[in-house]
Amino acid sequence: MSTNLPNNLDAFWMPFTANRSFKKNPRIISAAKDMHYTSHDGRQIIDGTSGLWCCNAGHAREPIVSAIQNAALTLDYAPPFQFGHPDAFKLATRIVELAPGDLNQVFFTNSGSEAVDTALKIALAYWRAKGEGQRTRFIGRERGYHGVGFGGISVGGIVSNRKTFGPMLNGVDHLPHTYNRSEQAFTKGEPEWGAHLADNLEQIIALHDASTIAAVIIEPMAGSTGVLPPPKGYLERLRSICDKHNILLIFDEVITGFGRLGSAFAANRYNVQPDMITFAKAVNSGTVPMGGVITRAKLYDALMTGPEHMVELFHGYTYSAHPLACAAALATLSLYKSEGLFEKAKGLENTWASAIMTLQNIPQVQDIRVVGLAAGIDLLPKDKPGISGFEAMEHSFNKADILIRITGDTIALSPPLIMDENHIGEIVDKVSQTIRAIY
Ligand code: PMP
Repeated sequence: MSTNLPNNLDAFWMPFTANRSFKKNPRIISAAKDMHYTSHDGRQIIDGTSGLWCCNAGHAREPIVSAIQNAALTLDYAPPFQFGHPDAFKLATRIVELAPGDLNQVFFTNSGSEAVDTALKIALAYWRAKGEGQRTRFIGRERGYHGVGFGGISVGGIVSNRKTFGPMLNGVDHLPHTYNRSEQAFTKGEPEWGAHLADNLEQIIALHDASTIAAVIIEPMAGSTGVLPPPKGYLERLRSICDKHNILLIFDEVITGFGRLGSAFAANRYNVQPDMITFAKAVNSGTVPMGGVITRAKLYDALMTGPEHMVELFHGYTYSAHPLACAAALATLSLYKSEGLFEKAKGLENTWASAIMTLQNIPQVQDIRVVGLAAGIDLLPKDKPGISGFEAMEHSFNKADILIRITGDTIALSPPLIMDENHIGEIVDKVSQTIRAIY
């Protein structure tokens, strides 16, 4: 058995991690291939969460690895301001082909958080360009996660991500979240109950007047707060209220983009056209940091005015459209296509849902939501919130050899789209074993 524990665990301040507890009982991942991670002590850990909702093509896939290696040898870096490189244009074209309707341009970032802040800034710049600069207000949603930039935590709806940081963006309101256990318990796919919650947007508009509102931003399926699929008809209703009042609608598809729900984007699955889509993670199967915003033609067109030699949008990142990230994304999108992984995800959805739903026989499982190749499993809380979840995370990695994601006392699952029925069986067994072990 190989051991690969770092000598010194002190210097690395770990993100979104209980650092003191981790350093007493470290969980170290040292390698990955296809559906599995290898732990520092040589165990094969099945990946129940695509890393962190990103590795949809599985791990260390040869075509992606070669593309990154070739890019590093050919063009390691190119400045993205006032210069371009071929793969950036090729990739933007490929992404636009996957997106619905006239979502025709892509602005590249390096993460989902940057994608969200970019989308909010594009919305503000758009309204100024249209002569409606008083439209500055944003509407997010409770239980929304939009990354950790100041824009993202402001429109996001998670108290622990906001409470320690003082002032947020001004002028942000939140729609109610769409989860209601008594109406939606153990739902497969989109719940029947809840479309009317979109009408709260009308109340917010009545309070402030539509002429002050720039955009509404939501995750079509809220992932990070426990897999909350949209109630049937909810997204359509939001779209029609936004249309009525001329408000932009942004779908944050950092989790749902690139196949998680059996289509390129959730917008395709639900047949609802947003004005912008943010993406990251699975665009290159998590291999090189990358995110971006896809915008409808009217946004780009409104900003392409003024003298031609002038920069139209004063925004961008040193690593926007990084050559290694672009090469990885082009290879990943080719793999999704050649292996038909979005269609495969769609085909597996029922098998996945039925297998996951067997967990409802465990008495401590309080609710399950399952949609696409994702699932949220709510566990009975122990004496303090988060303990059941924390124990499940530790047990699953240390003893059951499966990687899961925990938010509070909810287990979130989102395995690579390359999984087969045997993997589904193994994942469900290991999750079941974990839940039974912690009570
Ligand atoms: N938006 C959504 C919907 C997300 O799920 C996430 C990350 N889980 C983000 C934004 C932030 O992405 P990142 O961590 O890459 O900044």
